[in-house]
Amino acid sequence: MKKLAAGNWKMNGNTAALAEVQALLAAHPAPACDMLLCPPATLVAQMAAQAAGSALAVGGQDCHPKTSGAHTGDISAAMLADAGASYVILGHSERRADHGETDALVRAKAEAAIAAGLIAIVCLGETEGQRDAGDTLAVIGAQLDGSVPETATAVTLVIAYEPVWAIGTGRTPTLAQIAEVHAFLRVRLLARIGAEARGVRLLYGGSVKPSNATEIFAVPDVDGALVGGASLKAADFGAIVAALA
Ligand code: PEP
Repeated sequence: MKKLAAGNWKMNGNTAALAEVQALLAAHPAPACDMLLCPPATLVAQMAAQAAGSALAVGGQDCHPKTSGAHTGDISAAMLADAGASYVILGHSERRADHGETDALVRAKAEAAIAAGLIAIVCLGETEGQRDAGDTLAVIGAQLDGSVPETATAVTLVIAYEPVWAIGTGRTPTLAQIAEVHAFLRVRLLARIGAEARGVRLLYGGSVKPSNATEIFAVPDVDGALVGGASLKAADFGAIVAALA
């Protein structure tokens, strides 16, 4: 399995930020892992053109479950693919919180993404209150069962475990807590999609930075990272890519 360093730019970046992509490609022309950036929708086509023929893949941050129609402000998976995307992040906790996205909706989006030829990165994670209450594995298990299409494969699906309380906060779970959740995810995924689950990349996300990437990547069943803030600067994201050798 090839590991994956994925960057989520969220609602950050304009055309000037594409200079960071140039710097990243210059410093890491042939990384050992797969390398992905998911910019705002406005930059997908430009970044994809910039990355053409390079080791960098480009992805979206969301898609609509339908292929087209009267859905003002939305974009479909096929549109992302047409713009040059090969991945899409789905069910990020910010979308679950800001837009009320349910597991069923995330699953419908994942099905649409896969049908359009995209790789779906399905995000799961507990809130701090859920962790404090001892509900982490129950919450994540339910999210996985509800959000992941049964027909997903090692090629079409990536899972990102992102504790909500670790996103953008500088706080991270202990390595033992990450290991516990990732081992649980592998077993739960085996039950959901069968043997294909062994090849599905399980990313950790939540305040990954150059200073903690190496120890997090050494945790069993951590097959890469979904990186927010530290993906905006080529130097930081490049260091994380290099740590995933
Ligand atoms: C994210 O947005 O998915 C994320 C993990 O953010 P950060 O790395 O900034 O915590």
